[in-house]
Amino acid sequence: MNEPVRAVLRGAKPYATADVGAAVDLSDNTSLWGPPPAAVDALRALDASAFARYPAIPPAELYRALADYAGVSTDMIVAGCGSDDLIDGAMRTFAEPGSTIAFSTPTFSMVPAFAAINGLRAHAVPFRTDLDLDIDRLLEPRPSIVYLCSPNNPTASAAPLATIERVLDETPGVVILDEAYGEFTAAPGFGLLARHPRLVVLRTLSKAFGLAGLRIGYAVLDAALVPALETVRGPYKVNAAAVAAATAALTAGRDWVQARAAEAAGIRVRLAERLAAVGFSPLPSAANFLCVPCANAAAVAARVRDRGFALRVLRDLPPITPALAASRGAALRIAVGPWPVMARLLDELEPEAAACA
Ligand code: PMP
Repeated sequence: MNEPVRAVLRGAKPYATADVGAAVDLSDNTSLWGPPPAAVDALRALDASAFARYPAIPPAELYRALADYAGVSTDMIVAGCGSDDLIDGAMRTFAEPGSTIAFSTPTFSMVPAFAAINGLRAHAVPFRTDLDLDIDRLLEPRPSIVYLCSPNNPTASAAPLATIERVLDETPGVVILDEAYGEFTAAPGFGLLARHPRLVVLRTLSKAFGLAGLRIGYAVLDAALVPALETVRGPYKVNAAAVAAATAALTAGRDWVQARAAEAAGIRVRLAERLAAVGFSPLPSAANFLCVPCANAAAVAARVRDRGFALRVLRDLPPITPALAASRGAALRIAVGPWPVMARLLDELEPEAAACA
């Protein structure tokens, strides 16, 4: 049955999400504050009869709003169906099949998956014990692409600016800097573009902007590279409703989004302190989630799930910190939401500290 399927896809398991049911979903790092009210208003104001037509290509109003947000010109923007779409597209744009993509591990799970599908050789190098990148090992095979995720999913750690700059200076090929969680820290990507023509900054409206369900991500890169990435991504990947909501979120909704992101950044510190006080060892976070090493992560998550909170269970992480070594690579990834939600979560999680040790 599998015979007509490409070898790399035989026995493939499509990405599927667990049914989180009635639980508060802290498993995907999406926004617990919901979509920006300005985006909801824009969706309500849409004339649905216009959906009989294809959306405009390029979506000029969205590209203007994204360019203004990123502080670049509109010819440096490519939007797609989530930043997933652009990770995949960038691999096919910038690396010949059989060439190498380098990344630190653990990182966003779709990166090795897309690398395999696109016929790339994955050069996965564990983070150093201080959660910085091992640049020498990363660049050793002279990769066509370096994928650098900062803040990184799932560790939540941010790469120091000096590290990012060294990677940019020393990489022979393209650097994809995935800043999906960039709104929760002082992410440097946009500011580096002027000096680095082989840098592709990826952002998404799925996290701080609260629009994961509408599937909008975007790349910001040298205008000379845009036509190739636009071609690879293909037409009509960004739908008309998403364009309207995203444009409103980036303009009228921007202050609201930034205030919520700042709030999340404060709450992550408070949550980490409370967890540390009862014996957990969360990794330092620059994102809207915490990575909490936990030897019995699956059992703890199942119990907490029964009490209404869906957390992400991580397995087989490399033992890059003492806490991850002690948990034998198991951890919980917990999205940060409004404090009343976190306070209820703590009531359920604090008694589990011993089970995590
Ligand atoms: N990059 C990172 C680091 C992520 O964590 C995610 C989502 N979990 C994505 C990209 C993809 O997000 P989206 O496709 O929703 O834009």
